[in-house]
Amino acid sequence: MAESEIDLAIIGSGAAGIAAGIYAARRSLKTRIFEKEALGGQTALAIWVENYPGFKKIKGEELMQQWAEHLKEFGLEAEEANGVAEIKKIAGKFELLLDSKEKVQAKAVLIATGTENKRLGIPREKELYGKGVSYCANCDGPFYKGKKVAVIGAGNSGVTNALYLNEMCKKTYLVEFLPQPNCDEIYLPQLEKSGIEALYNSELTEIKGEKRVKSLVVKDRATGKGKEIAVDGVFIYVGLSPRNELAKKLGCELDEKGFVKINGKNETSVKGVFVAGDLGSGALAQTVWAAGDGAKAALAVYDYIRKL
Ligand SMILES: Cc1cc2nc3c(=O)[nH]c(=O)nc-3n(C[C@H](O)[C@H](O)[C@H](O)COP(=O)(O)OP(=O)(O)OC[C@H]3O[C@@H](n4cnc5c(N)ncnc54)[C@H](O)[C@@H]3O)c2cc1C
Repeated sequence: MAESEIDLAIIGSGAAGIAAGIYAARRSLKTRIFEKEALGGQTALAIWVENYPGFKKIKGEELMQQWAEHLKEFGLEAEEANGVAEIKKIAGKFELLLDSKEKVQAKAVLIATGTENKRLGIPREKELYGKGVSYCANCDGPFYKGKKVAVIGAGNSGVTNALYLNEMCKKTYLVEFLPQPNCDEIYLPQLEKSGIEALYNSELTEIKGEKRVKSLVVKDRATGKGKEIAVDGVFIYVGLSPRNELAKKLGCELDEKGFVKINGKNETSVKGVFVAGDLGSGALAQTVWAAGDGAKAALAVYDYIRKL
């Protein structure tokens, strides 16, 4: 088993991780970026990004590919499908165990593992995952061409994904717990014109189907009555949960929602452990913000290592 020592281990290659990588490399910190899944994080899953300065409208995946190329200019590449399974703090340094079973020693770690879509925890959601239940319209949407789907949650993610699905699906429902959509106003005219059937003040209580999703039970919150709607797929966008397992095991203090508490220098309560992007408490869950936060964290790590 190879063992190597670096200055900084960046965990996650979303906006925060890549921006941190660029800044760390420019300060000549010996850095590696580990990515459990695929490069680009949540931004790479966005169908269109329309609010990243310099790009009027760009596919999320394309934007993040450009970031990866920029990173390469500084001799750094995210190591995809090689996540960090465990981190131990030993004598002031960190020992990381990678999914590849390699062990790496680092002077500091920057955890930028972001968030994942919340699960509803309702009957059949888990069993039918990948069989009609999805959390990513960009990944799975094309399988539902000409079919009936429902999107759960009318926040920005839910609404933009419902609009995307509606372009190719025979019928799209949008189910929202609140009495009105919870998205930015800019999407409202498009939503109204779309032909999407919106069920507000409504709660998805059950997914039905043996081998695949067949229907949904949606409760009208005003009357308490449930109705069944036949669909082939359901896309769930009801908020985000922090991917805090590594920080939690290291003993980093968390806030009441499970986000990692950090100070203005992105330091956690554990010395040498920094957090950036959506995982940090106070996160705005936007690409531009996560990038700035990653850059700030990398500079703070540089100061920390210089003083060691
Ligand atoms: C569908 C969707 C559309 C969006 N659209 C927009 C938009 O248009 N504009 C905008 O500004 N924002 C948008 N956002 C929000 C934006 O994508 C996030 O704010 C941003 O991605 C946060 O970046 P991050 O680096 O903190 O985390 P993430 O992008 O979540 O990246 C975290 C990375 O860490 C990896 N990881 C997790 N655990 C481990 C581990 N143990 N080891 C190694 N790697 C690990 C993950 O696989 C992931 O790649 C969207 C989000 C979603 C879900």
